[in-house]
Amino acid sequence: MTDLSGKTALVTGASRGIGRAIAERLAADGAQVIVHYAGNEALAKEVVAGIERAGGQARTVQAAFEDGVDALFDGLGETRLDILVNNAAILGGRFGQVDVADFDRVFAVNVRAPYFIIEHALPLLNDGGRIINISSAVVRIALPDIVYAMTKGALDTLGFSLAPQLGERGITINTVSPGVTETDMNAWIPHAPEAAELVAAFTAQGRIGQPADIADAVALLAREDSRWITGHVLDVSGGYFLG
Ligand code: NDP
Repeated sequence: MTDLSGKTALVTGASRGIGRAIAERLAADGAQVIVHYAGNEALAKEVVAGIERAGGQARTVQAAFEDGVDALFDGLGETRLDILVNNAAILGGRFGQVDVADFDRVFAVNVRAPYFIIEHALPLLNDGGRIINISSAVVRIALPDIVYAMTKGALDTLGFSLAPQLGERGITINTVSPGVTETDMNAWIPHAPEAAELVAAFTAQGRIGQPADIADAVALLAREDSRWITGHVLDVSGGYFLG
């Protein structure tokens, strides 16, 4: 059963990239989608318009997570939720090149926000609900952006640590870990074909991921069929760096 009709999904960072693809996929499966954005109102409205043109239902909500998550919940009001996708994140920086303010900002957006979004969302989340956090394959690969990688490690821990506390209500919490995916976060891809080819060669499938590759995996975890999967980290990288 893939039908999410009657369900409401909140997708953070849904104005662009992977979050946008997730919002569009969940809407195509029948969910009413709340499209969160930080600064790109026009893009978020475009996502909503696209969903509506396709016959779905959506609306936007704004919040910049370095300022906390109150604005997000002011925008949600009393809206009941069935699916929460913590997708929004920002890059960090190399060891030795990040000051305290930058470090705090990356952790605020990538870790503090998902943690408190879950805490605030739980009273709004219906029993049998789904929480899906978007992490990254960088937690198993040593790359220069250590601060970003650390935030994703924290998110993985959050997922399996919280699962037992949600089980009584039939709420699952899972983590999806994309590999390199063609979005604004990897704006270099179209401009560096040789490097892109090298990255593609590191995947088992010989190509770079597309936002829809990740969105389709999120849709698997959102559906009723996934009810017995919780506390799991799902690698969705096309088999990146398997050795
Ligand atoms: P993008 O950079 O394309 O989009 C980021 C989204 O997050 C936008 O919707 C943006 O909103 C929102 N956002 C940015 N800053 C803030 C902020 N301060 N507060 C709240 N929201 C904010 O990211 P991707 O689509 O590439 O990544 C999505 C998720 O996938 C992230 O968790 C990322 O870590 C993860 N991921 C991505 C990979 C990749 O290769 N792209 C690989 C592995 C994991 P706005 O448009 O309004 O700025």
